[in-house]
Amino acid sequence: MDKETLNRLDQARTKFIRVIWCDNANVIRGKAIHRKRLKTYLTHGVGITAAQQALPVMADAVVPNSGLSPIGEIRLVPDGNTLTLLPYAKGHARMMGDMILDGEPWSCCPRSFLKRMINASKQAGIEVMAAFENEFYLLNPDDLSPVDDTVFAATLSMDLQQEIIDDIAEALTSQGVVVELYYPESGPGQQEISVLYTNALGAADQQIVFRETVKAIARQHQKIASFLPKIFSESAGNGCHLHFSLWQQGKNVVFHQQNPSTLSPLAQSFLAGILDHLPALMAITTPSVNSYRRLQPNCWSGAFRCWGYDHREAALRVPTNPILPSPTHIELKTVDASANPYLALGATIAAGLDGLKKELKLGEPLTKVPGELDESEREKLGIEQLPSCLEETLKHLENDAVILEALGRELSQSYLAVKKVEWEAMKTFSLEEEVKLLLDRY
Ligand code: GLU
Ligand code: MG
Repeated sequence: MDKETLNRLDQARTKFIRVIWCDNANVIRGKAIHRKRLKTYLTHGVGITAAQQALPVMADAVVPNSGLSPIGEIRLVPDGNTLTLLPYAKGHARMMGDMILDGEPWSCCPRSFLKRMINASKQAGIEVMAAFENEFYLLNPDDLSPVDDTVFAATLSMDLQQEIIDDIAEALTSQGVVVELYYPESGPGQQEISVLYTNALGAADQQIVFRETVKAIARQHQKIASFLPKIFSESAGNGCHLHFSLWQQGKNVVFHQQNPSTLSPLAQSFLAGILDHLPALMAITTPSVNSYRRLQPNCWSGAFRCWGYDHREAALRVPTNPILPSPTHIELKTVDASANPYLALGATIAAGLDGLKKELKLGEPLTKVPGELDESEREKLGIEQLPSCLEETLKHLENDAVILEALGRELSQSYLAVKKVEWEAMKTFSLEEEVKLLLDRY
């Protein structure tokens, strides 16, 4: 870390630098280094037990069959490129940590997994750019009621929530996140703020920054912000759609060169790979018991295994633009913010790369609303409704050699062990019980 950066920390009277990790259960955790001891810990990192990757979302209790135990120490080494002063916690800064064992990335480190998948894309000759698009609810802390009762894009909500939204935007901007669009979402008190895409690692880091910032700023306004996929049974769920694009030599290669209002053969195969692996991928992109309450037909959450141009009910939406070339990016809707962003993006890349490797063919784009078709019509079109619970997607993941191999033996074992315990603990929970346990976690 250069002198200039250290000076910046001191000018801001930084006392602690939080080194952050996000675990298999997608809980964001950190250990903070005191400024005076930063030099010592910068290179060697902070110690955490290997058992950190064996904790479910419910409590700090190591799950069985994870391959991990309280024996074994990992170094959490801060990534100097991610240093940020925290606008919502004066005197604190943040760095993303990489889990290192014996000087090498630890096999169970989610951030290192994403780096491996970024390398795999490079090997395949492409670069993936991405952004997570978050929806979240603003709630009153006393009774968890929504802060307003407005509908989609209602300017009334813009007026009512202006202070809090402006503060979030300012806090994100000061941390280098480029805020693009804001609008009140469909649910009462529900909001959406979208941010500019960046490289894959940056997009996952940005997702941690986003969640941390939104929650903290909401608290400063005496509100609770929650990304939990489904909070109210009768209102819209919180999606966290993953937007991505594919690049070669600095050029977008999503659109077709000869027919620039359709997908390139490369993008088609990448999408076919995602569709092929989707039921297994969902164990990582929609990974909580609560996630499946959101994935309902006619909720624009991607409940069907299909793709379409400008199709809000398809798991893969390809947005078009009258200004050619188009399309330039793709949206995966079957994602929510209970997903660890490093695992979710890494596994999506693995699925897409498999499509490229096998030169999978993408079927025709869907031009009908799948929820309005009956089972036999859907079958004719080769469309199916995606799994309806975590147990099902976990089974698909256990049988998906490609994604398991990408994760590696240790990471997949610990991940599956954590998720199975979560399923067992919460499979009979009512929505109210899920909200009580998970509202603050996500
Ligand atoms: N709230 C919807 C979801 O659960 C998404 C609505 C939209 O922005 O299209 O994914
Ligand atoms: Mg939305």
